[in-house]
Amino acid sequence: MRRNGQTDRIVVIGGGISGLSSAFYLLRQAEAAGRKLEMTIVDPADRIGGKINTLHRDGFVIERGPDSFLARKKPIIDLAFDLGIEQQLVGTNPEAKKTYILHQGKLHAMPAGLVLGIPTELEPFMKTEMLSTRAKCRALLDLVMRPRKEESDESLGDFLSRRLGPEVMERIAEPLLAGIYAGDLRKLSLQATFPQFGMAERKHGSLIQGMRLNRGKAPAIAADADKLPPSARTAFLTFSGGLAVMVDALDRALAAVGRKLGVKAVAINPQSDGSYEVALGDGETVSADQIVITAPAFHAAELLQPHADVSALQAVRYVSVANVVMAFDKATFGQRFDGSGFVIPRSEGTSITACTWTSTKWLHTSPDDKVLLRCYVGRSGDEEIVDLPDDKLAEVVRRDIRNIMNITAEPLFTEITRLHRSMPQYPVGHLDNIAALRSQMAERLPGVWVTGAAFDGVGLPDCIRQGREAAQYLSQLWQ
Ligand code: FAD
Repeated sequence: MRRNGQTDRIVVIGGGISGLSSAFYLLRQAEAAGRKLEMTIVDPADRIGGKINTLHRDGFVIERGPDSFLARKKPIIDLAFDLGIEQQLVGTNPEAKKTYILHQGKLHAMPAGLVLGIPTELEPFMKTEMLSTRAKCRALLDLVMRPRKEESDESLGDFLSRRLGPEVMERIAEPLLAGIYAGDLRKLSLQATFPQFGMAERKHGSLIQGMRLNRGKAPAIAADADKLPPSARTAFLTFSGGLAVMVDALDRALAAVGRKLGVKAVAINPQSDGSYEVALGDGETVSADQIVITAPAFHAAELLQPHADVSALQAVRYVSVANVVMAFDKATFGQRFDGSGFVIPRSEGTSITACTWTSTKWLHTSPDDKVLLRCYVGRSGDEEIVDLPDDKLAEVVRRDIRNIMNITAEPLFTEITRLHRSMPQYPVGHLDNIAALRSQMAERLPGVWVTGAAFDGVGLPDCIRQGREAAQYLSQLWQ
């Protein structure tokens, strides 16, 4: 790095939440260290925010990508405070706590006490009609079964079937957990997705018992409740103007940071003085002393391939999904919801994988006399549906909601968003693979860090944490 007093040049590749948080915390670190930064964010999109994309239409707040985040995860709450937008946080409707699961064509309330799909209260679990008696008894074996000896990684699906049996895995856990990854649990790494499950087994000898004992240990909201608006004290939060509020606030905080939008980073070229040149798709180059790469793994792999073994990145497959948002007039809708929506196991054979009753779950998203629904399609092994033409896609979604909820009303409008290759799937062994890649990069490409949703957590709070870690890593090299 350059001598104290000189300007350090940093390029952030990717302007999604991981890149924006990296840039934000790099500025903070530089301020604390009394250093000047000349930073540039590069993104082929014509806007920053990446997957976060809020649409305001006819009084509705519509999320085309992520719609909320877990309040117990501190990095995002900290960022909201750092940006001064915490008073815009808003929680879910307290009257809409129930979540449903489709079973044999009918919606069943999720049994009380399920934590991430794991039963922690036995009475409601034993009463649910969604499982056979045999499956329930099989799940209870978890309480007496020996824990696995090896500590090596295994797939989430293998782990859950081993502890709770295949029926609980397929009918309860998979639809609930797959919402986060749109994945096939048998191909996802346990250690990289839900390491707390493996820890529960190792520490308490039982997944059910471990999850039960851990329940309620972490506060539901990672902030003093009285510092948040009264409506923002629920397990999931967003901002009253949508998640774009956070992107806009980052945009303002990063006003002094250069932008190269509408153009890709296509190569990283090490220079003889230890610095780098980032080549852009339009033929320009940007000089850098340090680089943070936050583009999806398949793009990061292209940039790093000339310099490192990128098999860890190539092993991260991405699933394509789409969501279909429909707005209705309450007067003609003919339904009232008492929950937040439902998820669907693969075995039900529907086109949609889940449905959020958005206007009931999030009261700020719709005018009082309107209803907003958000249906999801696409998951690992079922991605062709994402590319159906708009009219066909809307038709199959409407057929499902008619069959499941008897909704026949004509939507006022339909918004379809396709997110191709948007959901990273961490393979078994992912964390070790990434650690090996990073140690190779530290040697061959000092001052270049690669991070984002493909690495250590896909949720927004985890991406923000990873942005903060990127800033910490690079600022350590300033000494
Ligand atoms: P991205 O947002 O993908 O940003 C990466 C950026 O890199 C993009 O802007 C891209 O244009 C850019 N890029 C690509 N190639 C290059 C290149 N060569 N040069 C420069 N830039 C490049 N999480 C939650 O916490 N809550 C939710 O409710 C939730 N729902 C979700 C729903 C959907 C449909 C999806 C897809 C994800 C959801 N997630 C949710 C996950 C979360 O939204 C993402 O993991 C997160 O936004 C990813 O941020 P990121 O910055 O790592 O990546």
